[in-house]
Amino acid sequence: MSVLKILKIPDPILKKISSPVGEITPDIQKLASDLVETIRFHKNCVGIAAPQTGKSIRLIVIDVSVYPKPHPNHGLIILINPVITKKEGKRMGREGCLSVPDFTANVTRAEKVAVEGLNEKGKPVKIDASGFESVVLQHEIDHLDGLVFLDRVTSLKTDVFRRKNYVDKNIKKQ
Ligand SMILES: [Zn+2]
Repeated sequence: MSVLKILKIPDPILKKISSPVGEITPDIQKLASDLVETIRFHKNCVGIAAPQTGKSIRLIVIDVSVYPKPHPNHGLIILINPVITKKEGKRMGREGCLSVPDFTANVTRAEKVAVEGLNEKGKPVKIDASGFESVVLQHEIDHLDGLVFLDRVTSLKTDVFRRKNYVDKNIKKQ
């Protein structure tokens, strides 16, 4: 297993619609375990989508159980070709992303989702998630459709926040 490099905006791969996985080959399984190792490597990281590592395919890994603040969750979830089959309610929460290191934002998402897909062994999986885990699933599935959380923000003026640690770096860049 290896920790993969994370692409950052404005990398064009992050804007692409990812392809469905046809056959679950050893390469796909290897990528899934590399994605798991990659989220374990980054502190408080609760999810990743394959395109964030340059692989434009429909594969996500999430694990909300590692988050310091406890939330109801299903532990580690590996999902191939995930599809949201049900959405319910609304909640607003602060989101961040390894691919968008300089900002966080308030994003409105569904409070509950049902997601169907396959696990890394090709077995059908259905997850009923709520709260934070529901948000993480929606965030990662968005990556498969070329969207980052900034694309979901209502107002770039009032809902986007610069991460304090990155302020100096940004000033130099401008
Ligand atoms: Zn992300």
